[in-house]
Amino acid sequence: MTFTFKSKYDLNKENILEYTSDELNALFTEMGQPGYRTFQLWKGIYSANYTNFEQFTSFPKTLRNILDEKFILRSFKQIDSVQSPTDGTTKYLWELADGSKIESVIIYEGKRTTYCISSQVGCPLDCKFCATGKMGLLRNLSHAEIIEQVMQMKVLGKSSPTNIVFMGMGEPLLNYDAVMRAADVLSEPEGMAFSRKKITISTSGIIKNIRRMADENRPYSLAISLNAPEQAVREAIMPISRKYPLDELLNAARYYTKKTEKRVTFEYVLLNGINASLKDAQKLLQITKDIPCKINIIPCNSDDPNYQPPPDEQVVKFDRMVNANQRTITIRKSKGWEIQAACGQLYAENKQKSRKTVFNEYKFD
Ligand code: SF4
Repeated sequence: MTFTFKSKYDLNKENILEYTSDELNALFTEMGQPGYRTFQLWKGIYSANYTNFEQFTSFPKTLRNILDEKFILRSFKQIDSVQSPTDGTTKYLWELADGSKIESVIIYEGKRTTYCISSQVGCPLDCKFCATGKMGLLRNLSHAEIIEQVMQMKVLGKSSPTNIVFMGMGEPLLNYDAVMRAADVLSEPEGMAFSRKKITISTSGIIKNIRRMADENRPYSLAISLNAPEQAVREAIMPISRKYPLDELLNAARYYTKKTEKRVTFEYVLLNGINASLKDAQKLLQITKDIPCKINIIPCNSDDPNYQPPPDEQVVKFDRMVNANQRTITIRKSKGWEIQAACGQLYAENKQKSRKTVFNEYKFD
């Protein structure tokens, strides 16, 4: 397996994060290293979060030098960040080895620290209220690039994650293999050992891969962005709904909950004048009544004047309407409002800066 960087920022080395433990084992066997070294290497990379091979002090110097000549442990750089002065929510903009840019966010809420990570550069799905959707899809991220967002934020953030959500740029279920492989590595007991239940894959409704997740009995949590209680409205704000209609999506959710015996989370972004009336709340209850679920209400955070949140009192009424029906429902504050924390917004803002300015912010090791 090779993953060679062509970027001017990286030497012509392979990214060791692209290797599975079996591949690392094969590599070390080829190099005449004892078997336990693979375990030490894996631990150093994923548990100790080492960023260079000098930190592997249990390795002979010659081995560290060989690894350093062939491999890198970090493949991209932070080029911007912005922090909310009110709640500390921090958004990071990274430049990948090929010059692509992606975002990740850390959200602090009491004891909870949520890392929100990207799965694609851009997104092909064009949800109307989303800045990333306007970029289109540039490419999928590799599983290593997905994991590295977590590893880099663990160093930069105030605390390690208690939750990891695939809700950043991109549609995770359109990059299924890399996303599942990344989630597997993040939760690998010998490495980062992150709780599988605390990893959430959030989809706009890629039905075939919701069913695949269920069939493969993936141990991760599933969230579905519902955002409208009827097909016509959903289709208008989420074009993917033409390919995967609402009733089929709800059937896939039923299939998932039955097959996995797990509840699904429905995300519902409130858009003033579009999906936020009490009639909508009633319909939402109606269409989800036989599905074991939790519903997260998220007032929209968009810089597009056509897609704005309803007034607070309307949000509360929407919540009451659903709570009155004894459903599990939570209003999730749209964290980091003032720092443009919704996905794709920092990217768009950064694009306005000249490349010269952006490169000046680089810190090379
Ligand atoms: S909301 Fe998610 S799925 Fe929709 S365009 Fe944005 S990134 Fe893509």
